[in-house]
Amino acid sequence: MSTATEQRTFDSLNPATGAVVGTHPIQDAAAVRAAVAAAEPAAAWWGGLDWAERRKRLLDYKAVVTRDIARVVDMVHQETGKPKADATLEVILAITHIDWAARNARRVLGPRQVSPGMVGVNLAATLEYLPLGVVGVIGPWNYPVFTPMGSIAYALAAGNAVVFKPSELTPGVGVLLADLFAESVPEQPVFRTVTGLGETGAALAGDPGVRKIAFTGSTATAKRVMAACAENLTPLVAECGGKDALIVDADANVPAAADAALWGAMSNSGQTCVGVERVYVVDAVYDDFMRELTGRAANVRAGQDYGPVTMPAQIDVIRRHIDDAVATGKTVLGGPESVREPYVDPVIVEDVPEDSPAVREETFGPTLTVRRVADADEALTLANASAYGLAGTIFSGNVRRAMALARRMRSGMTAINSVVSFASVPALPFGGVGDSGFGRIHGADGLREFTRPKAVSRQR
Ligand code: NAD
Repeated sequence: MSTATEQRTFDSLNPATGAVVGTHPIQDAAAVRAAVAAAEPAAAWWGGLDWAERRKRLLDYKAVVTRDIARVVDMVHQETGKPKADATLEVILAITHIDWAARNARRVLGPRQVSPGMVGVNLAATLEYLPLGVVGVIGPWNYPVFTPMGSIAYALAAGNAVVFKPSELTPGVGVLLADLFAESVPEQPVFRTVTGLGETGAALAGDPGVRKIAFTGSTATAKRVMAACAENLTPLVAECGGKDALIVDADANVPAAADAALWGAMSNSGQTCVGVERVYVVDAVYDDFMRELTGRAANVRAGQDYGPVTMPAQIDVIRRHIDDAVATGKTVLGGPESVREPYVDPVIVEDVPEDSPAVREETFGPTLTVRRVADADEALTLANASAYGLAGTIFSGNVRRAMALARRMRSGMTAINSVVSFASVPALPFGGVGDSGFGRIHGADGLREFTRPKAVSRQR
């Protein structure tokens, strides 16, 4: 039997129809090793190009993805089941990141003179941020273009080669992103994809030629990735799950807060790391808020306003959380009957105990728990009592007060009077604390994440 016929494969499926979208190889440790080994000279070549050339190539890549946006969107739509409008938004946001990384890399990372900061020495000091070499990117399925591109574009702009392991649910779009890059950079395998299941990701994390891993996925997997990275002391940036809270203060614009809570919880079927899962509303506006929220949510339906649950196993988690919330709290909308596999209609439950799984664990579905609180301080205390700390939202009529609350919120990002807006802002760092992970992608911090600072001092 030839090696070709021994190659194990897996299928990606359309979660809405069950149809096979594509068949891909399960690449083992040897195949991952070969991809990383091929990327090493590519990294040296790409990292040695001047800033203007890398910027030009990345902007060419942006143009190629833009040209083929319908193809990319269609693949996201098929592999995740999300509506094409949502897939289009995701790809446009990813393109924005390619553009920002390309245009800002030199400014953020290029060499600069630094005052040595010592009295009585006659030194000239230079600081620059050099590429690491080969960066491994391990991605999730929920935003299979936008999320990994938040690492890939920045790692490439900083002068690294990238070996990308997309989720086993969305391998087709991962392969497509790398194929499109090869159109703008045909000379060397600067950005390549390896496909497979978790073991392929583990092989990438444990490969001695990989100089950094950028992982996005669940907290449980991040711990396994970190253990694999430990073998070679490979540094890691870990973007994990969340249980984001939205706080509605007494002077908030209540209809706007209800819009945000609904959109933040239900869009992408709730499969968003920075999706809203908990809402804390100050007593003075609680009844108004609930009226606005339920009025809007009553008309929202899965399959019409958002797509299916992409990962079949997640349905069990969502069902367990709905059952728990309904059993321990007061149901406002939906319930166990909202689960119509692979779709889940909106579920809203009040007064679920703060220590129950529906409030503590990431649900990753279109569900909300809502609690009445005395004031914004109590809301913040409850919001902060989570093991996660990815993002959060504050609705308030007083910007100064909201800014002060935002600083006290235990999260990497906070949005005031809007929801999940930070995710799409290329210039701002993105990442969490606690179980939501560590390290930052996007923005200047995201560029520096894929470099090593190089200090050179010279006696004058
Ligand atoms: P997951 O942890 O199941 O898988 C993520 C990736 O890790 C996949 O490519 C998978 O094949 C790979 N993997 C699995 N086992 C591995 C191992 N032992 N070693 C190396 N790689 C391995 O996550 P998912 O279900 O794909 O994504 C959903 C999760 O991602 C949610 O928790 C969500 O909150 C999180 N997420 C976070 C962000 C963020 O930026 N913080 C963004 C999107 C999604």
